[in-house]
Amino acid sequence: MKRRSIILSVATLVAVSGFAGASLAADLPNVRVLATGGTIAGAQASATDYGYKSGAYDVNSLINAVPNLGKLAVITGEQVANIGSQDMNDEVWLKLAKRVNAVLAEPGTDGVLITHGTDTLEETSYFLSLVTKSDKPVVMVGSMRPATAISADGPGNIYNGVAVVADPRAKGKGTLVVLNDTIHYARNVMKTDTTSVQTFQSLNRGPAGVVHTGKVQWFEPMDKKLGKASEFSIDSLDKLPRVDIIYAHANMSADLIDAAIKNGAKGLVIAGVGDGNMTTPALDVLTTAAKSGVVVVRSTRLAEGITLRNNEVNDDEKGFVASGELNPAKSRVLLQLALTKTNDPVQIQKMFYEY
Ligand code: ASP
Repeated sequence: MKRRSIILSVATLVAVSGFAGASLAADLPNVRVLATGGTIAGAQASATDYGYKSGAYDVNSLINAVPNLGKLAVITGEQVANIGSQDMNDEVWLKLAKRVNAVLAEPGTDGVLITHGTDTLEETSYFLSLVTKSDKPVVMVGSMRPATAISADGPGNIYNGVAVVADPRAKGKGTLVVLNDTIHYARNVMKTDTTSVQTFQSLNRGPAGVVHTGKVQWFEPMDKKLGKASEFSIDSLDKLPRVDIIYAHANMSADLIDAAIKNGAKGLVIAGVGDGNMTTPALDVLTTAAKSGVVVVRSTRLAEGITLRNNEVNDDEKGFVASGELNPAKSRVLLQLALTKTNDPVQIQKMFYEY
């Protein structure tokens, strides 16, 4: 990792970052914090209240709340959005991704930390992993408890997140997610629990590594395409194709499939039962839709396992794509980007194998 050689004056640094505790040591990496809101920036009316307001604190308050952060990196902060991540949308994704690419292109910046709500963190992180055109580390953190909670988990996650950005071995790994002392590849990670701090899991493959009080250990490498190796670019895009997810269940009708297509969906992801299956009426309508150019991806509503091609459903015959390891939320992200290139299900199936 390129180290900082020019030392800013204290006044400049505090003005830029609002972080009076930042170290001025010449050998620390420069890390930009991009804040987007979420519980990590949330405030309760009192520390024992259950409810809270997302995005109550700005980026400088988040940075200043973490003791000793300035010993890991020279930190500067920017507010990109301030929303609960349940409101995350294509517009904010494109704005954030463009900002990440611009910040990483600055020669003096060594990596980015993004604070984000946990609800859609698994989607935003995978999106960024596919469209970031740099090997410099990008790490996303959130928290399950608001900033005002007893035993808030946000400051520890930010500290560990910055430690991972500052670790030279984090380069080229795509967007990483750090919560609860665990490092995950964006592609693999999923929120699994509504309230526990141990909610983020990489169920099929296990975590990328662990980070305890800023000390990083890596486990598995990632063998899928991401970052600079990815063919997807958002540079010239101001919107993404519409892709809807439809949840399969006993007695599923085709009504929601028809409604999605009527409302402009160019692709559909089915959160199928079992190995990506669904009722015969749903399969029949989707087969017709696939023949008319709507791309249909079969995923599973289950948390673990691989949706296999041509296993229970004959994808070759119906013109479908099987999602493999990708859950419905991640399948939707990849399909949106794939549709910026092609609507050929054979080529899109290849992308689902490669990414
Ligand atoms: N609803 C919140 C969000 O995703 C939950 C959280 O951040 O933990 O923004």
